[in-house]
Amino acid sequence: MAQEKFEFRSETKELLQMMAKSLYSSKDVFLRELISNASDALDRRRFESLTDASKLPADETLEIRVSADKVAKTLTIEDNGDGMTRDDMIANLGTIAHSGTKAFVEKLKEAENAEQATSLIGQFGVGFYSAFIVSDDVTVTSKRVGQDKAYTFHSTGDGAYTIDDAEKSSYGTKIVLKLRPEDLEDHLSDFTDEYVIKETIKKYSDFVQYPIMVECEHQHHRTGVEEAEGHDESTCNDPTHMVKERVWEQANSMKAIWLKNPSEVTDEEYNDFYKNLTYDWSEPLFRLNLKAEGTVEYRGLLFIPSRAPYDMNYRDAKYGLRLHAQHVLIMEKCAELLPDYLRFVKGVIDSSDLNLNISREILQKDRSISTIRKHIVKKVLDLLDNASENDPEKYAKFWEQYARYIKEGAASDYENKDKLLKLMRFVSTFTVDEDAKDENKGKESVKTSFAQYVSRMPSDQKDIYAITGESLEVIKNSPHLEAFKQKGYEVLYLTDPYDEILFSQITEFDGKKIVFIGRGEVELGSEEEKKANREKLDAQKKDFGGLLEKIQGALGGSVESVRLSSRLTSSPACLVGQDGDMSPQLHRLLSKMGNAGMPESKRILEINPNHPLLEKMQSRFAANADDAIIPKFAQLLYDQSLLSEGSPLPDPVEYTKLVTELMVESL
Ligand code: ADP
Repeated sequence: MAQEKFEFRSETKELLQMMAKSLYSSKDVFLRELISNASDALDRRRFESLTDASKLPADETLEIRVSADKVAKTLTIEDNGDGMTRDDMIANLGTIAHSGTKAFVEKLKEAENAEQATSLIGQFGVGFYSAFIVSDDVTVTSKRVGQDKAYTFHSTGDGAYTIDDAEKSSYGTKIVLKLRPEDLEDHLSDFTDEYVIKETIKKYSDFVQYPIMVECEHQHHRTGVEEAEGHDESTCNDPTHMVKERVWEQANSMKAIWLKNPSEVTDEEYNDFYKNLTYDWSEPLFRLNLKAEGTVEYRGLLFIPSRAPYDMNYRDAKYGLRLHAQHVLIMEKCAELLPDYLRFVKGVIDSSDLNLNISREILQKDRSISTIRKHIVKKVLDLLDNASENDPEKYAKFWEQYARYIKEGAASDYENKDKLLKLMRFVSTFTVDEDAKDENKGKESVKTSFAQYVSRMPSDQKDIYAITGESLEVIKNSPHLEAFKQKGYEVLYLTDPYDEILFSQITEFDGKKIVFIGRGEVELGSEEEKKANREKLDAQKKDFGGLLEKIQGALGGSVESVRLSSRLTSSPACLVGQDGDMSPQLHRLLSKMGNAGMPESKRILEINPNHPLLEKMQSRFAANADDAIIPKFAQLLYDQSLLSEGSPLPDPVEYTKLVTELMVESL
């Protein structure tokens, strides 16, 4: 086939430009990316050869070769991996398969520094394009294993590329980059220099599991030449006696760090490995070494990143642990090793009990895999539990990033529900007070666990109380809290909308009911107190009966009913849900998420008979049941109840009018 010319998609063009710009100060990552692609190609060839030995002759060593040509100003990276066909080139190099190209470009624009930009490349799978950071002339020649024909892809990074027939004797891929002359002037970015090449490989690719051979120039003393008596070759510096020779030197150590005993490995080495594995530029928050010798033998090295990766919630984001069987990489991201909610855990698992030919389909049913997975979950949860007890500050950092995942786990992993509940932390009436006391506190507030909450419960408190709301600012002053504060009962502030969903499924901790105080009737205190309260309320109901009906009439269909409150001490009124109702915040959230038209359950307006406003309203009503001020006040009570819980007013203009009118009257 003759040469064919193709256009890159328009986003690709922008991507190439952005990448060159954002990564200008850490150009060397391009080498890591191309080596990583080569290593993946070698993995695939090795994997294919497991089922078809003809794909890899016994005497062929899988390796990566890097060489430079100072005169031609080129750098060549070659592998004997699986190679690409012509169609593969179009699909893999000519188009960006990942749906997140746009997202990638956006994120790249936001990146504050080159390190952040670098980590994006790996996360978005656009490694090949990093070649254009150092080159505007890239040639890829490749021959797919088992095929006769080879092809060449060539692009100058300006929006188009060509594909041509090529000659290549061996299988695999060879990438030649013409380096920019201006980069070569700076010694550190002179990638024709063997020292720079070797250092870059050590820095980024030391753990690659194939030899990375670099072509180097060696000098040695001529032998077999007649020399004067007593000539010492080791001290001779006569240049005419020296010969130069080109040799291949291995630049990476290939050490499998997860097989070593932790005592033999430094923190720095672990962190380097982590960074290589994840493309994260910051240190991990937690590290976990695993070694199991029971029913299934395996070793593992797991990490929890200090920040939750932001692509975690994309529907097609891939996650999982790197899986090795008998030290051979089987899968880059094995999701079967982790439950969904632990998808933020990174690392490597290497088991000697797994079959090398294990396929994805088999994985899901494999007993060893499910045993390992169970074990991983246990170890991770133990690690977190331990940290939450012994290193609360570090644990607080974890919770800040991963609260949602732990909650998701509590809702989905029945077996570990109690452990997960134990890991949860909340702000509460108590912690807010503690915060206020602490003068040198940072912006991060103290939080409580359920267990700590329970340990502070006064003896007459039976249930765990919680209030939901959009933000701490709004619910901190909610009228719903009044009676609880007065009794000295702690209330948890649940500001994550997910909490309400979660705790409608999980209704207890340690045998104590979790009660939402914005719903249902509230009865606090000992049996005698409750009885006394009930009697008082019954008496007041007789007095207020007519007024309640009047208010309900004035509010029309806005409320389910109007009743006297036993939860208010200083506010005149509040709105409460019925048991089992969804809160208005959750209703708003679900509506926003596309459940429009979902019926909102009507709530109950509770009024405080001991408030002077209600006392006065009652005496106006007693004097004249048709007093025109009463419906207006009813509307205001309702509107204020909405405002104080952070809900929007149905008609703010009407509200303002009414208030103004009353202000005028009172002057
Ligand atoms: P990613 O590696 O994250 O998929 P890249 O842009 O780095 O993204 O590479 C795109 C694809 O091109 C790879 O998935 C692979 O299919 C193919 N590819 C890249 N380099 C090689 C190589 N050296 N040998 C074989 N295939 C390769």
